[in-house]
Amino acid sequence: MTQRLEGKSAVITGGGRGIGKAIALAYAREGARCVVTSRRFEDLEQTAAEAPDGLVTAVACDVSDDSSVKEMADRVHEMFGGVDIVVNNAGIHAAGRFMDIEPETYSRLYEVNVVGIVRISQAFLPGMLERGRGSVVNIASTAGLFESPGQAPYNASKHGAVGLTRCMALELAATGVTCNAICPGFVDTPMLDGFADLVGAESEELRAQLAQRTPMGRILDPSEIADLAVYLGSDESSGMTGQTMAISNGMRMS
Ligand code: NAD
Repeated sequence: MTQRLEGKSAVITGGGRGIGKAIALAYAREGARCVVTSRRFEDLEQTAAEAPDGLVTAVACDVSDDSSVKEMADRVHEMFGGVDIVVNNAGIHAAGRFMDIEPETYSRLYEVNVVGIVRISQAFLPGMLERGRGSVVNIASTAGLFESPGQAPYNASKHGAVGLTRCMALELAATGVTCNAICPGFVDTPMLDGFADLVGAESEELRAQLAQRTPMGRILDPSEIADLAVYLGSDESSGMTGQTMAISNGMRMS
């Protein structure tokens, strides 16, 4: 352990599996005390059980529900006082042709992928502003940077998450609190199984197809996203805000 996050406390939404779980375990290995939240408590308990030194605590929370977020934030404030790092990772996906997707699907994704970030950030920012330091790390997507086929509601919500990150960063810039977004490409998580179901493909077949669409020729491991999230939560990134950083299997180069 290098302890790059020693003495810090963090909240990671959607921390029961996939990218959120990898981030929580990486944060704990670097010495941070973490709360992981999502709607499925059993998954969260598993993340907590795998973390070193009891550093991860599971607290159920639905980021699309005001009272659930308030309840979780009250509990975290009791445990930690305030938090140094908020990772807005919880997200949901939808796929299909534009003319086949009901408007309601756009609202559902926006509630979680955009307004979820707003609810969680507003719950923890007052403490960060009071202390004059903190990091907000939003997990957006390459779907927030450029067009993606058959994913209009997801793409629209992730463009929203990228715009929100930049606006938050601008307003927070002089306060000592940073706000950045990570934009992953294709990552090997249960979300890809859901994607496969939606398009009627076998999971492994879909993974192979997605890998072929990338310059690297492979999909990413969640730990590769977690490594960047460690940097963005650490003091090493204190001069960086408003950035949208692609870890994109080579799909986005700039
Ligand atoms: P996943 O489906 O494996 O995990 C998502 C997590 O979010 C789950 O723990 C789920 O319970 C939680 N969640 C969903 N809705 C929630 C809600 N209303 N309240 C609280 N928690 C909720 O997905 P993942 O691949 O690990 O994705 C994590 C993030 O990364 C998402 O924002 C996703 O859009 C983004 N992302 C994923 C990929 C990929 O290829 N897997 C690519 C780009 C971006």
